[in-house]
Amino acid sequence: MAAIKKIGVIGAGRMGSGIAHVCALGGFAVHLSDIDETRLKHALQSIEKDLARQADKGKISENDGKAALARIATGAGLDGFKDCDLVIEAATEDEEIKKAILKALCPNLKKSALIATNTSSISITRLAAATYRPEKFVGLHFMNPVPVMALVEMIRGAAMKLGAHHPMGPLELADFIGLDTCLAIMNTLRQGFDDPKYQPCPLLAEHVKAGRFGRKSGRGFYNYT
Ligand code: NAD
Repeated sequence: MAAIKKIGVIGAGRMGSGIAHVCALGGFAVHLSDIDETRLKHALQSIEKDLARQADKGKISENDGKAALARIATGAGLDGFKDCDLVIEAATEDEEIKKAILKALCPNLKKSALIATNTSSISITRLAAATYRPEKFVGLHFMNPVPVMALVEMIRGAAMKLGAHHPMGPLELADFIGLDTCLAIMNTLRQGFDDPKYQPCPLLAEHVKAGRFGRKSGRGFYNYT
């Protein structure tokens, strides 16, 4: 894997600005983005204040603080993510908002770029599936306040593989079975039991409609070409 030089951060709330702060202090070029320009302005002001506080306490030098701030660029669009090696999504905790961000982001990324989400509660697997590149997706859960807390939890989409020793993650297994077969099974269960809990998820139906049947067609949740 290529070395990470530039990190993108989406969402300039408390968490996004803290993540931008520690990444810049760690020597990475940072692109911080938010749909709300005022949030971006406030984020830069609070990062500057927090870096100055760290320098006052002797935790970092004044020069390191200034250099870190200079490494942070901001912008509202997706252009700034084109040359990022890693993009960390730290926007509002809302599944639909996060999925929309991830879908729009993917075509704007380098092929090798990794994507992470800082979500506290939303399924990493479901968010990974929204990217069409789940093998490059991780959960990176920073603690609040980010510049003070040393712990970061890392959750891979393949958590069932690592944590429960399953030979494949759930999406990989579905690709292996065949997404058309999975959809047919879900439809039979849904009708047979007349229970909405078996309703196939729209993304599964979308894949099948597009001919992405999994391994057998070369593309499903993962790409096999
Ligand atoms: P926040 O609400 O303070 O900030 C979210 C930011 O996302 C806002 O500035 C908002 O304008 C921006 N945003 C919304 N839609 C956007 C879009 N489409 N594109 C770009 N930016 C957009 O939230 P926060 O507390 O900073 O939390 C961010 C994430 O971190 C959430 O997923 C949350 O669950 C997670 N988290 C929070 C904490 C915490 O203690 N606050 C701790 C760990 C993880």
